[in-house]
Amino acid sequence: MSCSPKILIKMHELSIVMGILKIAENETSKAGAKEVEMIELEIGTLAGIEFEALDFVWPTAVKNTVLEHAIKNIEVIEGKGKCMECEEVFSMKHIYDPCPKCHTYLKGILQGKELRVKALTVV
Ligand SMILES: [Zn+2]
Repeated sequence: MSCSPKILIKMHELSIVMGILKIAENETSKAGAKEVEMIELEIGTLAGIEFEALDFVWPTAVKNTVLEHAIKNIEVIEGKGKCMECEEVFSMKHIYDPCPKCHTYLKGILQGKELRVKALTVV
């Protein structure tokens, strides 16, 4: 059986949603609540997550769970790097983006790799 890259991407996002769901289930039972009303996620553009694919797998993945009726808010964190050669701080769209000033690939990533549940409201 061969898998197209598109399906592999969705599998990746699906496993991410399952991880988020586990956190939500833990928090809901800890609070003695029934379900999640609102969930706020923080996702960096360099975290390797396709937002489109995440939206695609979400409804199926959360069906009949505490997240089924939850409002999902995603805060997108822009990728930022700092050049190790000239110390320029620049925004990054891709993990392999070079420094726009001196074109070196040596940089530290300041932000954009985030993937976390920032807030959760249970009822
Ligand atoms: Zn530079």
